[in-house]
Order: sequence, then C-alpha cells, then structure tokens
Amino acid sequence: MKFYDQIPSQYRKSVEEGFSKASNDILNVSKIYSSSLKGVCSTALKAIISDGRLIRPVSHYDFTENCIYMDESKSEEDYMRTFRHEYGHFIDYSLGKISEKPEFVKAFEDDAQLYDVSKDDGIKRLRNLQMEIADNIHAFASEYVTDIISALTRNDTAFIRKYTENATQTSPYDLFYYEKMEGAGMSGHTDLYWDDGPHMSRQKEAFADLFAIWTENNPIVQKFVCDHFPNLSGTFEKIIRTESKR
Ligand SMILES: [Zn+2]
Repeated sequence: MKFYDQIPSQYRKSVEEGFSKASNDILNVSKIYSSSLKGVCSTALKAIISDGRLIRPVSHYDFTENCIYMDESKSEEDYMRTFRHEYGHFIDYSLGKISEKPEFVKAFEDDAQLYDVSKDDGIKRLRNLQMEIADNIHAFASEYVTDIISALTRNDTAFIRKYTENATQTSPYDLFYYEKMEGAGMSGHTDLYWDDGPHMSRQKEAFADLFAIWTENNPIVQKFVCDHFPNLSGTFEKIIRTESKR
C-alpha cells in the first residue's frame, strides 16, 4: 500500500498488520486510492493554544487537505485501530462521498428503523441487541461496532447505561478492557457531534466504521454486524465489491 511510507516508523508495522487480514475487495479498493492520499500527519501540527494550554484536535481525516491527522501519543494498537477508521473516511470521500448517496442513506435509515424506540418492535430489538452484545466480547470491545450503535440510536441513554454496567462487571478480568471501558462508557460520538457536527455525520461515521470492521476482518465481529445491521452491512459489501472491480 502506497501510504505505508507516510506512516511514522514506530507505527508502520502495526498498521501493516492492521490491514493484512482485510478482504480482497477492501484491499483492492484501498490500493486503488492509496496513492492519492496526500499525507498522514500528526495532530500536533494542528495544535492551538487556548487559555495557556496546548490543545490538539483528535485524530481525523481532513477532506480539504486530503490528509489523515493522527494522534501520535497513542499506543501502536490504538493508532492502528484509529487509522483503519480514518482511512475509511478517506475512502468514502475518494468514492465521491458515497455515504451521502441514496443507496447508503436508505440502508442507514432502514437499520435505524429497526432500533426506533418509539415503536414496540424497536424497543424489543434494542433490548435484544443489548443482551447479545453483552454476550459477545469481540463485538462488545469493538469501538467500531459501538460507534455504529451510537449513530443509529443517537446515543440511546438506556442502552449506554446498560452497556456501561456490563463493562464495569466484565472489566476486572482483563486489564485491556478495564482501561478501555472504565469510566468512559461506550465508545461513540457525542449528541453534539451527531446534531451539529459535519453534514450527515451519522452516515459518514457508520461508513468509516464498516470499512474498519471489514479491514480488521474478525469473523465474529462481522457476523454480529451482518446479523444486527443487515441493511448497512449488505449495502457496504455491495459498494466495496463494485468499486473493487473498477
Ligand atoms: Zn470518524
């Protein structure tokens, strides 16, 4: 992949490994566009001083510059996991903001409808999702999966409360999950971001998360996503299959 050279050397091996299990379609699409990514930079370049403190933005893809900005204070594992998601944003823009196109928007709406808590069916399905994610440590620990839930449900408070309870219960057995979950609750985006963030932020984040999940290619997580977000996963796979043949 062309962008490997742009990754700081201390993270390169981890990112290469992070893409090594990706499906062929994902690899093809990633390769087609990898030479057009302008750069992988440190968020330190965008630091500003506010109230006498140095504030750095979080990792993100900047579409005006066509660069990925990465927080270089992170561990190799966290850097790689974040990079997969940011690369998904880059691919979304490279495909002409495909997350804003009717096909993907409809899939997003159809899956959001499944968990619409203004209806009895929606309440039931969301409760079921709650139980199943608590039973599936791979899906539970995937910030990509929980971010999709955060987007689809607009941070359903009951779901997040239950998730956080489960996180505190399971955490003492594993330091990694402990650090990741304790106090932080569920990984996702804030209400403020969903309401006042970038145009169609929920669809954009869902696309980047799906890209990251298909790049990681953990069959347990993928099955969970296909079972619970059938429209998004089916449409995403179809888009990537079509684009990989260009
Ligand atoms: Zn994102």
